[in-house]
Amino acid sequence: MSPQKASENEEEYFARQVIEKKKKDAAEQDAAMAEADQQQLRELHYMHCPKCGHDLVEIELLGTKIDTCTQCQGIWLDAGELEQVSGQSEGGFFSSISRLFT
Ligand SMILES: [Zn+2]
Repeated sequence: MSPQKASENEEEYFARQVIEKKKKDAAEQDAAMAEADQQQLRELHYMHCPKCGHDLVEIELLGTKIDTCTQCQGIWLDAGELEQVSGQSEGGFFSSISRLFT
């Protein structure tokens, strides 16, 4: 291998290193942006009704905390809460909810 060939390879190697670094930085920047966007979304939507945008209030009903909309009276369950309330007997959770709005 001639010395010139070796240095060309070296240049290529470093150029590739620079490109790889740039790609990595860009990917990290994208991830940081995505995280920032998600954080912004969470802040914007947290405890707001997904249908009408009004404030949700958290109420506890038979041991389950549910979010209800003060405007459209929608009811939102967090993950796992449906399983929690569906195990309750008829005349329990669901009639409590219906009494809330009557
Ligand atoms: Zn609503």
